[in-house]
Amino acid sequence: MEKHILSKSTFLRGLQCAKSLYLYKNFIQLRDKQSAEKTAIFNRGNNVGLLAQKLFPGGIDATPAKRSDNFSAVEKTKQLIESGAEVIYEAAFQHNQVLAILDILVKKEDGWYGYEVKSSTKISQTYLLDASLQYWVITNYGLPLQDISIIIINNQYVRNGNVELDKLFVAKSVKEEVLKNQEFVEEKIHSSKLVAANAEQPNVAIGEQCFSPYHCDFMGTCWKNVPKNSVFEITGIPKVEQFALYNAGFKTIAEIPLNNNLNASANAHVLAVKNDEEKIDTPAIAKFLDRIKYPLFFMDFETFMPAIPIYNKTKPYQHIPFQYSLHYKKDKEAPLQHFSFLAEQGLDPRKSFLENLLKHTPSEGTILVYDALMERNILDGLKKEFPDYASEIDWRLNRIVDLMIPFQEKSYYHPAMKNSFSIKNLLHALVPELSYNDLMISSGSIAMTAYEHLQNETDMFRILEVREQLHEYCKLDTLSMVKVFEKLESVSS
Ligand code: SF4
Repeated sequence: MEKHILSKSTFLRGLQCAKSLYLYKNFIQLRDKQSAEKTAIFNRGNNVGLLAQKLFPGGIDATPAKRSDNFSAVEKTKQLIESGAEVIYEAAFQHNQVLAILDILVKKEDGWYGYEVKSSTKISQTYLLDASLQYWVITNYGLPLQDISIIIINNQYVRNGNVELDKLFVAKSVKEEVLKNQEFVEEKIHSSKLVAANAEQPNVAIGEQCFSPYHCDFMGTCWKNVPKNSVFEITGIPKVEQFALYNAGFKTIAEIPLNNNLNASANAHVLAVKNDEEKIDTPAIAKFLDRIKYPLFFMDFETFMPAIPIYNKTKPYQHIPFQYSLHYKKDKEAPLQHFSFLAEQGLDPRKSFLENLLKHTPSEGTILVYDALMERNILDGLKKEFPDYASEIDWRLNRIVDLMIPFQEKSYYHPAMKNSFSIKNLLHALVPELSYNDLMISSGSIAMTAYEHLQNETDMFRILEVREQLHEYCKLDTLSMVKVFEKLESVSS
């Protein structure tokens, strides 16, 4: 058997961009380093596949001792089929130098059935193409499939006791779509092999394909000549508009003419960059500040979203609050105080989270939250889960004011905000001396994954280390809010 040229991932890479496939095959060293954020997202829900195997118990795993030894995987799968195995996990096949590794292969009375497992709650076009390639390889290899299905997670499932696999997972046959795709798959395999073997790099300009369906990992190479302050830094407009500007010759924001078709929000940013100045609407800021009454609570929650519900009465991917940070100021001159909560790993954190939060927000005064939607939703959810605390929770909900409002309404705008109102952008623009750069945990996604991993961590040193990092991250979120609020106070007087 010759070494494979394409696998599922390189096939899909080629569909996204021929140049990406070429670079991957010939210049893999140019790949961008994976960001901590991306690694965190990638690592979420990677135990879903193992749990789904239990839908078909008693199977044999065809994964070889050395994971990259695809020859052995294909050979082992062949032997398992010949020896009468009825359930094979990670079944490997190769045809015409294309490798396919199927999550679960099951023999029923009328023949073989294939299953691909996804930790998603929806079947995307990419998943259909993935299943189409698997089907093409397996059937051309010589194993007819009665059906091929994608197993996804049922987002309406509510855990009650042990996880009920037949309710948590939904298997959907995609054979009809897969059959329709067979001709397309064959053509693409042919053209992708030519691209991979070509001596010359395909001439592909940067475009929307760089972001869809995945963020390409060769942007460091292809985008190196895109200047700083480019039109791609205008957030809040579709990519198609960014590329229209770029391809019309306007490479930087400063080059965009004032008579353009951009929306008002994007234009405010264009103007701020052109004039290189911040815009401060003092009366609007003063009006916002009028709503805010001391003592002040600066509040931020962290949540995690297990794909497989860990606790009773929770659904897949439900936000479970496990941490908060609170900075507190009794009055304008009072020293800043800090309170926090971080749940013990391994226990349902919701009740202790709520009880500690209520204890730390006892008095009158405004509760400032940055982008309050998530915090409001969490408190609403806790109200349903713990109705005895409903009136206490309502009292907190009624005191919440969203600190993002004056920035979202552009009462205070700085060109470095880049038309985005994330707390990090704000900090960079208004309080550059504070930064997340030195933190090991530097975003909500990383915090989410770090806490989820703690559930199975047994190394005490590692547990303490991660908990310390989580404390530092969440504390900086609310300290940033304090600094941003002080900035608003200083420009309003
Ligand atoms: S960055 Fe864009 S153009 Fe370059 S390889 Fe990736 S998708 Fe293709």
